[in-house]
Amino acid sequence: MKILVLNAGSSSLKYQLFDMEKETILAKGLCERIGTGGAVTHKPTGKDPVSEEIALPDHGAALERVLALLTDATHGVVASIEEIDAVGHRVAHGGEELKESARITASTIAYLESIIPINPLHGPPAIAGIKACLALMPSVPQVAVFDTSFYSEIEDFRYVYPIPYEFYEQDRVRRYGFHGTSHRFVSAELAKALGKPIEELKIVTCHLGNGSSITAVDGGKAIDTSMGFTPQEGICMGTRSGTIDPTVVTYLMKKHGYSAQEMEDILNKKSGFLGVSGISNDTRDVDAAAKAGNYRAELSLKILANGIKKHIGAYAAEMNGLDALVFTAGIGENQANIREKVCENMKFLGIEIDVDKNNNFTRGVPFDITKEGARVATWIIPTNEEYMIAIDTQRLTQGN
Ligand code: ADP
Repeated sequence: MKILVLNAGSSSLKYQLFDMEKETILAKGLCERIGTGGAVTHKPTGKDPVSEEIALPDHGAALERVLALLTDATHGVVASIEEIDAVGHRVAHGGEELKESARITASTIAYLESIIPINPLHGPPAIAGIKACLALMPSVPQVAVFDTSFYSEIEDFRYVYPIPYEFYEQDRVRRYGFHGTSHRFVSAELAKALGKPIEELKIVTCHLGNGSSITAVDGGKAIDTSMGFTPQEGICMGTRSGTIDPTVVTYLMKKHGYSAQEMEDILNKKSGFLGVSGISNDTRDVDAAAKAGNYRAELSLKILANGIKKHIGAYAAEMNGLDALVFTAGIGENQANIREKVCENMKFLGIEIDVDKNNNFTRGVPFDITKEGARVATWIIPTNEEYMIAIDTQRLTQGN
């Protein structure tokens, strides 16, 4: 079975074509600057990559180009579109109703359109990607996999914010949680690596990338997570503040006369490591500056590590125990010093890492960094959201 996985952003479209039997990626790539220009990078496995500048006025044009490249005589990996058995779409927000990965129907699209007010950034491009696919590949079954659905069983007292209840009832303001596909994937991979049923494990998964979130996974189910109504809540991120006293927002708006949009941009695009360090949103740059003695760079890394630590402690308390800790995504998989900072002085909780293993880890595979004899298993697990989407798509379309 060949499955095309699509991840549509506001001006981008990422794709991967999987051969599920062979468990291989046939091709992957990225369309950028959709709507304002256009560029495509196409990487077919075993063939030369292609980079091109081409006008991409909308997501439909981008997908059309992707399908042409996938079937191209020189750069292609399939003879025709008919070889693609199904398409899986990454959809960030499934609202309260789309509780698990689902086949796309007219009512799925109508529901996604109805929740655009609570998902204004990610909703429209995801819908545009789905519609482009329906137009260009009408007979191919399509599946949507939601970042939020891993959190659909979180209990009410963990998702209702303590503000007037009508904002939940009328405006659907609540914690939804994001990055669920990644947390679901790495917690399952960890259970496999430990050779234990996930039902018996209490795990904290730390997805630390440009956007970062932490999830408590108890018995295979997410019971709490750091991101909330939007991916803005939680720990300090590349350019996002994470959780701050909400009064800071109104104070700064009143004092400086910022509009709601200006304030949102400050919290979303100018905060996090970038805001505190004044250097970059990328931990590699911030880390280099910290090592060179830059106070604000070091401060931003300490804020990050402390935020992660607090969530681990809180989630161990919520789960009444902890068996394993997982680091994943750009920072989690690569930045040994952050992992070390997070795990220091956590012996009381059973977390102790082998500093040598942590520094000399193997990239790209699940890697155990637990100190011998420690009660909690600590692992680096590379995330693979696209593969998880392909698996769900296969499960929901097989036999069609
Ligand atoms: P996204 O949230 O965009 O998917 P990633 O999970 O790819 O992000 O994480 C990207 C971030 O990871 C970078 O901005 C950087 O801060 C951090 N990082 C640290 N080391 C590395 C590395 N060796 N390779 C990639 N990213 C790294």
